Amino acid sequence: MKRGVWIFLAVLVLLAGLGVLAAQRFEGSAPVLVTDETIVLGPGGFDFVIEVEDSDSGPRSLHIRLLDQAGSRTLAEENFPGDLLTGADSASPSRRLELHLDPAELRVPDGTATLVISARDWSWRDGFGGNRTELSIPVLIDTRPPKVQMVSGLTYLQRGGAAAAVYRLGESTAQDGVRVDDIFYSGFPHPSGEEGLRIALFAVPVEAADQPSIRVVATDHAQNEGSVRFPARVQKRIFQQSEIEIDETFVERVAAPLAQSAGLPLGSPSEIFQAVNETLRARNEATIREELANAPLEQRRWAGAFRQLPGSAVMSRFAELRSYRLAGQPVSQARHYGFDLASTAHAPVTAAAAGRVVFAQDLGIYGRCILIDHGLGLSSLYAHLSEIGVGPGDDVESGAVLGLSGATGLAKGDHLHFAVLVGETYVNPLEWWDPKWVRSHINVRLKPPQS
Ligand SMILES: [Zn+2]
Repeated sequence: MKRGVWIFLAVLVLLAGLGVLAAQRFEGSAPVLVTDETIVLGPGGFDFVIEVEDSDSGPRSLHIRLLDQAGSRTLAEENFPGDLLTGADSASPSRRLELHLDPAELRVPDGTATLVISARDWSWRDGFGGNRTELSIPVLIDTRPPKVQMVSGLTYLQRGGAAAAVYRLGESTAQDGVRVDDIFYSGFPHPSGEEGLRIALFAVPVEAADQPSIRVVATDHAQNEGSVRFPARVQKRIFQQSEIEIDETFVERVAAPLAQSAGLPLGSPSEIFQAVNETLRARNEATIREELANAPLEQRRWAGAFRQLPGSAVMSRFAELRSYRLAGQPVSQARHYGFDLASTAHAPVTAAAAGRVVFAQDLGIYGRCILIDHGLGLSSLYAHLSEIGVGPGDDVESGAVLGLSGATGLAKGDHLHFAVLVGETYVNPLEWWDPKWVRSHINVRLKPPQS
């Protein structure tokens, strides 16, 4: 062949190669940005992470700026190594940038702003500038705690007793309620429907310190916490103590099967009883708290006082401290957080007030057990049943039959163990059975406040 032909072919191959290169280098897929959709900037700042990904020519630059009333300013600018001929140096198609946003350092006032992020890749498009992706992220700057205004006045309550707090919030919150020492009781919309008006039922646990700290607290979406002291006087109470004699037959017949089905190690009779009375009890209490914390009813379902089991006699009262003795030796203790009510064997067990069944199944020491949510964080428990006639999700009226009494779980004979809880705390059912107490301590605070 002639030399001219060779040159022609070489040029052709070169052109084809350049064509392939150009086609590659002119790729049109823009970088992908992965980051938060919104930013809520509280006083503690915000750790902002952004990932730029470009699998064709690789990420080339990243530019972050903040737009607010004062104008626009660059917060970060990053150029990633590479060149126009081969694209990004790094084999990895993605790059990551972390930025701590601090409202004080940025001197940005409370309000709204926008974070504008733009990224380019190593493509030849846009006059060799690369494909560009731009993202605007709304930023809410909130460094002030929510305002809490107390509506309800001085409140007397007993240790082991309940109360209601009514308060107004100046802004929408992530969480609000009453904190007694370190126990939190969630707030709910006040039944009056007034915007910003909230109500929280709370309790002073039997074990609380002498002068517990009681505060209404509100936390906003930027983690600012506002709080006010709740004006309360806690009256002292003395709880009964009792000694309960158990024997080996009871351990063998009642406690051992409970230990076994809970997978607890079996040892001597006193070890078995301890494991059931302490370890299994703690587990069962944790289950009760989990069940109740799961989507509590926001509307109150109870009307007046709670109903005691019809025709029942009180066998054991609230918060008595029980010491168990086996063959004369102390083996274990437990506080009794409910009332034991006895009627006839297999007596119909009725709902103390209207509500929704949240739990209805076997629960260790409580045997066949039912939990009812009455709304606003108030609930009741029915234990040791022989039969359960309702299921989770059922709405029940006050006095509805829930099942039959029995002696399942850690029980000596047929009786109903009845308990009332406010949030996660057992409270004295006597208060809730008393129409005057319910009216003057709770229901009066459910009415629209006088202003
Ligand atoms: Zn009991």
